[in-house]
Amino acid sequence: MRLIPLSSDTETRPTPAMREAIAAALVGDEQRREDPTVIALEERVAVLLGKEAALWMPTGTLCNIVAMRLHTRPGEVVVADARSHVIRAESGGPAVHSGVLFEPVDTERGVFGPEALEAALAKAGGLPPPWGSRASLVCVEQTHNFSGGSVWPLPTLQAMSEAARARGLALHMDGARLMNAAVATGVPAAAYAACMDSVWIDFTKGLGAPIGAVMAGSREFVERARAAKHLFGGAMRQAGIAAAGCLHALDHHVERLADDHAHARRLALGLAAMPDLRLMDAEPPTNIVYFAPVPGHRLDAAALARALLDRGVRLSVVQGWLRAVTHLDVSADDIEFALSATREVLAA
Ligand SMILES: *Cc1c(COP(=O)(O)O)cnc(C)c1O
Repeated sequence: MRLIPLSSDTETRPTPAMREAIAAALVGDEQRREDPTVIALEERVAVLLGKEAALWMPTGTLCNIVAMRLHTRPGEVVVADARSHVIRAESGGPAVHSGVLFEPVDTERGVFGPEALEAALAKAGGLPPPWGSRASLVCVEQTHNFSGGSVWPLPTLQAMSEAARARGLALHMDGARLMNAAVATGVPAAAYAACMDSVWIDFTKGLGAPIGAVMAGSREFVERARAAKHLFGGAMRQAGIAAAGCLHALDHHVERLADDHAHARRLALGLAAMPDLRLMDAEPPTNIVYFAPVPGHRLDAAALARALLDRGVRLSVVQGWLRAVTHLDVSADDIEFALSATREVLAA
């Protein structure tokens, strides 16, 4: 039985056309800057994000590790939404690799403006040296995974960024799904990126490539990031094999993210019609839908997910919610199937 792969947009498999592009890739030694496909991808992402330069990375997690390492010194404070990936889902990496502490910001949907930033900085820097610690970095997640794929509106991001820069803070964007935000709003990715010192996009989420992320910034930042990537063991050899899939994704899988967003909205609409369920967001802004049985229901989120798995629909469970993520391996028919499976489980 085929499992409908709604648990994550990382479940995408390379398409036959992407596999052809991968098979035909020109390659060289990436560590020595001799891989033409990697270099082409870096140049393309630098332009896409409006930055001077960009750097091939094996994973998005390594982008966050390297950026945090470069923007901070041990003992400094990073401001980020309390449910952001860097705090909740990276094995404590920021503490291990960079020795930083977080000032988590409680937000509705992963988004905060200049006032919330100022409040966080007031807490972080509540005491003068030598007691207090210096805040040096703000991390932004676009879109915000654990807030239902929410999008930072550009004016909010600009205002927050201006306030952070006025305080001498660096800004980093975890743009794992930045292209989803750009497609959903029509705002160019470069406009969001302009508010940031460093920004990366993931190719292994909705863009559907098997391996790769690319981080962009100033030429000077990217040169330092290249050294830090080597330090953390992320420098590669014939990485063009993977980068070819990413170039293919930029050519063929960006505009179609709109289909994923339509599928997420259709799923949410169908789920919202079921009185046994509540949704985090009745109109999901991008490709992530969070829902849960209403409080007191005979099924909790984990039990509902297990029952759906038995019927061929795979979802993930995140902090008491079921999470469904749409992507290029989930069709409109799959959404209808998932909805009828949910109806059946709830009626059983
Ligand atoms: C997936 C993800 C990451 C990590 O990216 P990998 O390429 O899987 O290492 C970081 N941040 C967010 C918001 C993500 O969704």
